Amino acid sequence: QKAQIGVTGLAVMGRNLARNFARHGHTVALHNRSYGRTKELVEEFGHEGTFLPAETAEQFVASLERPRRVVIMVKAGPATDAVIDEFAPLLEEGDMLIDAGNAHYADTRRREAALKAKGLHFVGAGVSGGEEGALHGPSIMPGGPKESYEALGPLLEDIAAKVDGEACCVHVGPDGAGHFVKMVHNGIEYADMQLIAEAYDLLRQVGGYSPADIAGIFQGWNEGRLGSYLIEITAEVLKQVDAATGKPFVDVVLDRAEQKGTGRWTVQAALDLGVPVSGIAESVFARAISGGVTEREAAVAADLPGPTGGGGHTGDLQADVEQALFASKIVAYAQGFQQIQAASKEYGWDIDPGAMAKIWRAGCIIRAKFLDFIKQAYDKNPALPTLLVDSYFQDAVAGAQDAWRRVVVTAAQQGIPAPGFSSALAYYDSLRAKRLPAALIQGQRDFFGAHTYHRVDKPGSFHTLWAAEGRPEVDA
Ligand code: NDP
Repeated sequence: QKAQIGVTGLAVMGRNLARNFARHGHTVALHNRSYGRTKELVEEFGHEGTFLPAETAEQFVASLERPRRVVIMVKAGPATDAVIDEFAPLLEEGDMLIDAGNAHYADTRRREAALKAKGLHFVGAGVSGGEEGALHGPSIMPGGPKESYEALGPLLEDIAAKVDGEACCVHVGPDGAGHFVKMVHNGIEYADMQLIAEAYDLLRQVGGYSPADIAGIFQGWNEGRLGSYLIEITAEVLKQVDAATGKPFVDVVLDRAEQKGTGRWTVQAALDLGVPVSGIAESVFARAISGGVTEREAAVAADLPGPTGGGGHTGDLQADVEQALFASKIVAYAQGFQQIQAASKEYGWDIDPGAMAKIWRAGCIIRAKFLDFIKQAYDKNPALPTLLVDSYFQDAVAGAQDAWRRVVVTAAQQGIPAPGFSSALAYYDSLRAKRLPAALIQGQRDFFGAHTYHRVDKPGSFHTLWAAEGRPEVDA
């Protein structure tokens, strides 16, 4: 008997993926650097399906049917290269190595090119949903050569999350496309979490609501257009009471957000592509500020002054914050999708943005009703320049903007940081502006560096001789 698929790297993610394949009736070959994990999996979960445990890489490879499909689920980075170096010499033309870890897309591009030269298919697959998703159905974003998807896709679709019977898995595009999209997914997740946190903070500090009250408010929002996994779990977290102290859980947790780095990667990639993902960037920076203990302590010790005046919120705070959250979320997603489209163009990936929204509707952290509207927007117009001009989103923001502005004003007046809400609003206002002060920046650049500028009334590059005889002259 041969296995249809093999998994090497059997820590929590690999083990759950292997079990998920087995539960769907596939025979699964198992391998891990140290045999202990392999043995443990078979002992604990062997009854769930058919597993072929292997002690060595050679046994593992020999137990797979051809073309071989080897899922690598190890610590991202050098471990992945070590595993590839171990397996590649054992594989034959047409076999597939599938890296399901959180690799950087540039590493995936490098690995894909190197393995292609050896006649092997390398598939960088983004897998979202954590350990629960891996077991019960993740959202899967496979890249790599299109041909490999023919032999691999049906297996991945089997174990992926489903919405109305449709799998949350699609071939994203060549080489690093899958890992790129997974990275942006994580960046959007950062932005979403930051915006929700700001909504909580404003309700608490301006509205005086308790964490339990806010849990109730979020539960209400979860029934509406904000309905999503993140809103749902936020309500659960806010409801939680610390057993030791009887205080709300949020009040006993140190307020320093940590990060594993995919948000940072997203912003770095966006900077390289020149795409303004200010919502994701602000959320990465907000985590960094929260963890910047020395500066925060110094500022608190110096008692840096806050606002001296400023009244309360004018308007219905709860309703306004919901509108601000929704509008800011639209901006964050619009920016994330713009980044995917920019990379798709840069690398020739031909990514279908609507399909990305579709496969994020279940199995992953940012799953939300909202994604249906994004999918519909791209179905209507695959060439949509920004989600903000889609009729659904345009109307939603038009309806939300007055409330959104009131919330940003209140935050500023009361000295409550709301970098997500306010930067999203600034982005929106920048996009809609007929004229931006960038013209002045062009003038400054031309003044000090002769960088030239373009004119509104005729084509070509122009430079002004700023210093000549104290009077500007124009040199066309
Ligand atoms: P870890 O990231 O903790 O990695 C542990 C596994 O990597 C073990 O199987 C370990 O083998 C193996 N490993 C480490 N170094 C090497 C090496 N040099 N050679 C061979 N094998 C090595 O496991 P997780 O299950 O948490 O995550 C796996 C991947 O999935 C990571 O890339 C992670 O980023 C990604 N991921 C994780 C999610 C999560 O929620 N945890 C969600 C989505 C993706 P040994 O047992 O011998 O030490």
